[in-house]
Amino acid sequence: MFTDRPAERSAWAPPLARLALNGPTMGSRWTAIVHAGAGRPTIELQATLQGAVDLVDAQMSTWRPGSDLNRINAAPVGRWVDVPPELIEVLAAGIAVSRASGGAFDIGVGDLVAAWGFGAQAARTGPVPAQAASCCDLGAAPQSLEIDTVNRRVRKHVPLVLDLSGIAKGYGVDRLVETARGFGIASGLFGIDGEIRALGAKPDGSAWAIALEAPDRTSRGTAGVIELVDAAIATSGTYRQYRDVGGRCVSHTIDPRTRAPIANDLASVSVIAETAMLADAWATALLVLGPEAGSALAKRLNLSVVMLRGDGEQIERFASWGAQHLRGRSRDSHLM
Ligand code: ADP
Ligand code: MG
Repeated sequence: MFTDRPAERSAWAPPLARLALNGPTMGSRWTAIVHAGAGRPTIELQATLQGAVDLVDAQMSTWRPGSDLNRINAAPVGRWVDVPPELIEVLAAGIAVSRASGGAFDIGVGDLVAAWGFGAQAARTGPVPAQAASCCDLGAAPQSLEIDTVNRRVRKHVPLVLDLSGIAKGYGVDRLVETARGFGIASGLFGIDGEIRALGAKPDGSAWAIALEAPDRTSRGTAGVIELVDAAIATSGTYRQYRDVGGRCVSHTIDPRTRAPIANDLASVSVIAETAMLADAWATALLVLGPEAGSALAKRLNLSVVMLRGDGEQIERFASWGAQHLRGRSRDSHLM
């Protein structure tokens, strides 16, 4: 997904080394392209970036029985669970997007995800009955999960099963960026799967070019290019993660309002935002909302989005606005 041209440096600029680093995380890999000055060794940067995403995984994964998130899931209703500040930040952001999206995005969707055969629980025990799935109404009833930021603890007031898979990868990318910044790095491109964030511009001042994948199950083509400077992009689609249920492809993205996998004609949604966490959550939220309601809300909130409706060769591009505070910009006037 990354494209990069060799940086042209003027004679007076300090020498920068272009490093391409990566490692395992969240059932996938993180990647980083950084332009770093001479200083701390690459091996230390690699290990610190790995540590940053390992921390997010250890806190927010539904696949790790001992994760902080799963400790909340396992706790009985009403009992306080001590959690780290990073998890509090992501839970609060998730609930904020739930509210702003009218419940289309909902971190309480865990049981429904399992009911439709996706995620860690279904992998362990097979799909759970949909009728038995606990509620997922954090958009309408955010008080269902009480967050005590001062004492760093949370408690459920209803039997929620939390799932941060729609937002945690984006947060992981933000941690990569902050970690690199802590190393004095001012130029880099960081990603986990379809969640990508640019730190600064390239050393020659040009933007980072991100290829937007065409939503096609059978091939990996390009639908366009987005140029980013100090901005993030996240893409959620129905064309990679899906199951065949009785001959029908069902998406791993659930519409909490119908309690069923989404059924609209959007193939993918990309959102450009300041942080990868918000881009990630909003890409999922707008995918759930679908072309009409998703476009309308994106416009009202001044989100920068690319929505692709796709069926093989037929790809439509529509609904895109540039948010003023972002420096994300596109080369392709059809896209943005
Ligand atoms: P990906 O980038 O891997 O396609 P997304 O960011 O679109 O993933 O998030 C999808 C994941 O989020 C699902 O696998 C599920 O665990 C969870 N999820 C599904 N539906 C919702 C929803 N409506 N709101 C929040 N999270 C969801
Ligand atoms: Mg997402």
